[in-house]
Formats: sequence, structure tokens, C-alpha cells
Amino acid sequence: MVNPLKTGATLRHVRELIAAGLARPEEGPALEAVAERYATAIPPAFQALIESPDDPIGRQVIPALSELDIAPHEQADPIGDDALSPVPGIVHRYADRALLKPLLICPLYCRFCFRREHVGPDGGLLTDDQLETAYAWLRDNPAIREVILTGGDPLMLSPRRLGAIMRALSDIAHIETIRIHTRVPVAAPERMTPALLDAMETDRAMWLVMHANHAREFSPEARHAIRAVQARAIPVLGQSVLLRGVNDTPDALEALLRAMVSARVKPYYLHQLDPAPGTASFHVPIAEGRALLANLRGRVTGLAWPTYVLDIPGGHGKVPLGPDYLDETAATVRDPAGTRRHLNGQPA
Ligand code: SF4
Repeated sequence: MVNPLKTGATLRHVRELIAAGLARPEEGPALEAVAERYATAIPPAFQALIESPDDPIGRQVIPALSELDIAPHEQADPIGDDALSPVPGIVHRYADRALLKPLLICPLYCRFCFRREHVGPDGGLLTDDQLETAYAWLRDNPAIREVILTGGDPLMLSPRRLGAIMRALSDIAHIETIRIHTRVPVAAPERMTPALLDAMETDRAMWLVMHANHAREFSPEARHAIRAVQARAIPVLGQSVLLRGVNDTPDALEALLRAMVSARVKPYYLHQLDPAPGTASFHVPIAEGRALLANLRGRVTGLAWPTYVLDIPGGHGKVPLGPDYLDETAATVRDPAGTRRHLNGQPA
């Protein structure tokens, strides 16, 4: 079943998915139940990449009946954002940085999203008063050196609104670094207009962290959008989620990381899947993730290496998951071929 429809419009409803050949008519009623609970959006740039509904692109964005199966360990707020929010829109988990979530809209809705109980087209757009309260909180907390604009996707804001936020943050003396976390370069590259790029202007250190999970997401249009960001002297980092059926084979993971490096995007984090409701079909065990990364060591340029991390459920922070090469006593290391050696290189 190949997607025949290039409508130029974002697909949001089950009937549109069926018309586009991305869902079976007999699944319609059950999928409506999924769609009622979790937002759906498949923008044209992603529609064009889907070769069949269960391929690595389709799996990420097409609702599935398995999303209604909630496992006992899954949580509505797996990384504990809510408990760490001193004022609306701010999440303060680490001493030197804070998240600012100006909206909860995304260009597409990932079926494995860790904020799936919160994101959606209805918005979560902070009001001007709420934004002023968030800025006041940041001004009152001089230990905050970095603000991470996330959501939702901050590049779904209008250039006018994004520009106003960037100016307000740039006016706070102790904020040294501003980061934007986004899926727009791969999901809706046409949004990366000169006006949106102008809105990102700041005299602070500005970084863009883009989310992509499969090499095919790096379409010519996406590469063009990424290059436009880089042309503004904004470094671009990549983050991905390790996902069953998307990037959980050595070849798929290698292709993803190489696609990033070839687009001048430094792979930053490979996330272990957060246990959000109805996402078990995407789960890859940590031991398998470590083996996948170990398989790349020595074979793939170090530029392509992300840090494989777990966001400890409950808001306890991110930790690297390895693979480890040093033993616990720091007396021997394992080389890329798997041989354990003393630190002078002799076999142990
Ligand atoms: S783009 Fe990010 S916030 Fe939006 S649905 Fe995907 S994972 Fe969630």
C-alpha cells in the first residue's frame, strides 16, 4: 500500500488517512478512538517520505491500534515536567538551565512522544501575561545560564512571536545560551523562511537541536532548511529516539547518524524511549541499544557518535547508558574489537 496522495495539506483525520491509503477502512472506528486521545498530523514533507504505512517513516506518525494498550509502567508525564514547573511554561530540572515551552503545537505528532498527553493542535500557547511571568521567573533566577525553547515545537510560532521571545530572553543579562528544540527542519522545511531565521537572531550563543530518527528524513528540502540555519552561524545538533522498527538495526542507525554528519549536524543524544502511554511497540531494551552502539565503535567516524541516554522516569535527570569500555576498577579497557586490555595496551 503506497501513499498515492500528495495533497499539499497536513493529514489530521482518520478519514484522510484512509483516503490516502495510510490506514485500512476496517480499522477506521478503532483508529478514531486513538485519534480522540492523541493528536495526529502528517505534514506534506513527511507524507512524501512514506513508502508504506509500516515503514520507518509511517510508523512514527500514523496512529496505530497498539496506542490504546497502556502498560502498567507507562506514565502520562514520564520525565516529570509537571512537578518541576514553577510557573506555566517553565520547567526547572537542572541548576544552570530551564525549559521554556511557549506552545504545545508540533508540525507532526510522533506516536512515541514523551509529552503526548500534553501536545496537540489546540495549543498550549502561553498568553502574553504568562510569558511575562516566565521572563520574570528567569530574571529572578540568576543561576540560569541557558534557556531551552521547546514545547511543542517553537518553530511553529510565527516569526513575530518567536522574535519577541528571543528579544525578551536576550535582554536577560545572565542568559548566555539559547537553544531551540525542533522537528521543523525535517517535518516542515518550508517553514524555515528568511523571516523565521531573522526571528532567531540574538547576540547570545544560539544552538538549534533538531529531532530526526531515520536517514530518509534528510530529504533535499530538509537539507536545504538545515543549511539555511547553519548559514546564520547557528550550530545544529541532532537528537533521536531509539525506536523499534525505525532505527533499531545496525544499518538503520548507522545511516541515520551518517545522514546527520553529512548535513553538518552533530549527533548529540540518542534517547532511550520514555515510557509514555501506549508506546510499548516502539520499545528497544537498553542492552540492545548498547549493543547497537558498540557495533558502530571503530567503524563509524567519532563525529557520528551520540550519547545514548536515559531520562530517568520521575524527573530524576538524564544519564548516559554506555556502552562502557573501562572496567569498574579502571584497570582495563575493552577495545573496539572486544578484546580486554590493560591501559598500556597489553591483553588483560
Ligand atoms: S515533535 Fe517532539 S514534542 Fe512534538 S510530538 Fe514529536 S516528540 Fe513530541
